Amino acid sequence: MKYVQEFRDPKAAKAVLAAIARVADEIGATRDKPVHIMEVCGGHTHAIFRYGLDKLVHEGIEFIHGPGCPVCVLPMSRVDECVELAERPEVIFTTFGDAMRVPGTRKSLLQAKADGADVRMVYSPLDALELARRTPDREVIFFGLGFETTTPSTAFAIQQAAREGLTNFTVFANHITVPPPIKALLDDPHMVLDGFVGPGHVSMVIGTEPYQFIARDYGKPLVVAGFEPLDLLQSVLMVLEQIRDGRAEIENQYARVVPAEGNPASIAAVEDVYEPRPTFAWRGLGEIDASGLRIRETYRTFDAEEKFGIGYGTRGRAVDEPEGCACGLVMTGRIKPPACPQFGKGCTPDMPLGALMVSSEGACAAYWQYGGARAEEPA
Ligand code: SF4
Repeated sequence: MKYVQEFRDPKAAKAVLAAIARVADEIGATRDKPVHIMEVCGGHTHAIFRYGLDKLVHEGIEFIHGPGCPVCVLPMSRVDECVELAERPEVIFTTFGDAMRVPGTRKSLLQAKADGADVRMVYSPLDALELARRTPDREVIFFGLGFETTTPSTAFAIQQAAREGLTNFTVFANHITVPPPIKALLDDPHMVLDGFVGPGHVSMVIGTEPYQFIARDYGKPLVVAGFEPLDLLQSVLMVLEQIRDGRAEIENQYARVVPAEGNPASIAAVEDVYEPRPTFAWRGLGEIDASGLRIRETYRTFDAEEKFGIGYGTRGRAVDEPEGCACGLVMTGRIKPPACPQFGKGCTPDMPLGALMVSSEGACAAYWQYGGARAEEPA
């Protein structure tokens, strides 16, 4: 398959691994004094474990698993609000499948469905739009969740609903953006980060310009990467070469897919429909300024928060994590998943306690699925 097999070629992978080892030695990276590289995107976390890249690279490279899984960073309070909306008798609550099992304080959406709420899985906000057309006597809410990759599709759906004058379609907007949490992590005095592997899909939409502050203000390299093993290995090599050469730049390894300017049509739709919230809560990371999006005044009639009185910031946001859950520590790279006391005991993919075990892009689920955990002793 074009652009897949070439990026899984074992011979080429061996050559890149040798180059990584050479540069890692040149900069003095060792197991005790590793280079910390954060892969921001959950899709990259999944790929790293799937292909065993964490075991294949030089021992002086440590991957820090970043906050780039939207399901994982959704705070429990927002899941509670989803359940609250879904339990209203007039509502059909539509969502992507991976959000169904995220635990809230009372229940998940899946449990709400089992208890009688009308929760339906859809593949696109356009499915929800079609449902609204077909059921004019019901309120159809779409759970808008995700980073810049999925935000354009809900923006387009809202624009379409406005053109058609639909009055029974709203979006519960929980869209978030990648650059602010990277800044928050860089500002955290406890974090040790030497460079970043940047998200491929998000960058397809926003381009590479929004990351410039990472190199300019913090002196750290970032390389936007694809999702095949050779993409990731080459990106790690590019980060290491920048460190060796004393450079800090934003580079694009995934140029076959990511244009430097992003996708102008998607950017324009998002600009038209959404505006930044002053602040937004992230599970495990807390409140981060301007990291979430809300629906602009012009499209307020399509805003479920507004229509059903769930105004962000009008209620207490803080909801504690379940007892013993170490998601926050894992998400900020302070511990690896097996070090969480609940890992594999109170928390498994079948019975997730924390959000990182729910989605396949969550670090704990990836460790569990691909055996990284079983090969390591809990710290
Ligand atoms: S094992 Fe479960 S509770 Fe522990 S950090 Fe991972 S997801 Fe959170």
